[in-house]
Amino acid sequence: MNQVKCKKIWLSSPHMGGAEKAFVKEAFDANWVAPLGPNVNGFESDIKKYLNEDTYVSALVSGTSALHLGLKLLGVTNGDEVLCQSMTFAASANPITYLGASPVFVDSERETWNICPEQLELAIKDRIAKGKKPKAIVTVHLYGMPYNVDKVHDIAKNYEIPILEDSAEALGSSYRGFKCGTFGDMAILSFNGNKIITTSGGGALITRTKELKDKTVFLATQAKDDAVHYQHSEIGYNYRMSNIVAGIGRGQMQVLDAHVNKRRANYAFYEEYLKEFSEIKFLEEPEGSFSNRWLTCIETNSYELREKIRLTLAEDNIESRPLWKPMHSQPVFANAKAYVNGVSDELFDKGLCLPSGSNLEKEDLERVVSIIKKVLK
Ligand SMILES: *Cc1c(COP(=O)(O)O)cnc(C)c1O
Repeated sequence: MNQVKCKKIWLSSPHMGGAEKAFVKEAFDANWVAPLGPNVNGFESDIKKYLNEDTYVSALVSGTSALHLGLKLLGVTNGDEVLCQSMTFAASANPITYLGASPVFVDSERETWNICPEQLELAIKDRIAKGKKPKAIVTVHLYGMPYNVDKVHDIAKNYEIPILEDSAEALGSSYRGFKCGTFGDMAILSFNGNKIITTSGGGALITRTKELKDKTVFLATQAKDDAVHYQHSEIGYNYRMSNIVAGIGRGQMQVLDAHVNKRRANYAFYEEYLKEFSEIKFLEEPEGSFSNRWLTCIETNSYELREKIRLTLAEDNIESRPLWKPMHSQPVFANAKAYVNGVSDELFDKGLCLPSGSNLEKEDLERVVSIIKKVLK
């Protein structure tokens, strides 16, 4: 028999606000079809206003390129070690290797699923004892939930190690009233297609001084010296954001807060309708934390149940995903050092990300919940 498939429900798909096309059209009309122009400047200034006027924003081609340049500007080089939250997307760790440095992974805490302060301090002490003081720390606000900024930054300060804050998933989140992306010595954002706002692909490096922004743009545009001919005294990169995609970004900034509100409403809906089931746990906001709820994640009580829910959703054309597989368990990082406590491996085993887009309809959420309920009953 021919079965009509239900509408596909995505985990997190692009959601245009309406003004994007006008900004892109402006770029075409003025022939600013280049990796510079009014949209790039406008997008950067929108982000700066949103985060904090004291920040300096460089729009780049991706969050990954922002991490690469951030690490480079923090002085990471061949042979260095960089501590990195283990439970994250590979893009947090890969750029460490681009510079010839080695990632050393640190496990998560239960409260936020992010870097565990105790494990972090243990790792720092142990690396120093072994004569390898870490050059930097990559911290992540996973799924939009702020990590324990107070504790983590106190530790980093004590040992005088700079933090590169990976805020790719946390634009719109805040901690004690301050926006994520403003805590690290440097921070990065991502505007990939699945993120809370998107430029189709893009990212930004957030720095604390104009000098560092100028250096970022210099490196991102092939490190051209100040000369009439092409002269280079340093290795450069082609990492600057295009004025076309920056136009999409300007339109998206107008709806960022609406997206945050909708994603938070998705979370509230799932929690409301699933909290009666003891087999499922939600990640609650610790006091002082405000999550953009980029993705709503649940922790089930077993791998088997997680898979049963995931596969039953898939049968109904609904996309869901296991949580990020920790970097210390990835084949590509099999030889990397790691300080582990079991938390991220357990979360990976039992956790599932549910459809969380800001463009989901009430019927979509109801469909997801009714299937999960059927599995649980
Ligand atoms: C998406 C993401 C990145 C990478 O951003 P791109 O723009 O895709 O290069 C880095 N870190 C985390 C945690 C991410 O989720």
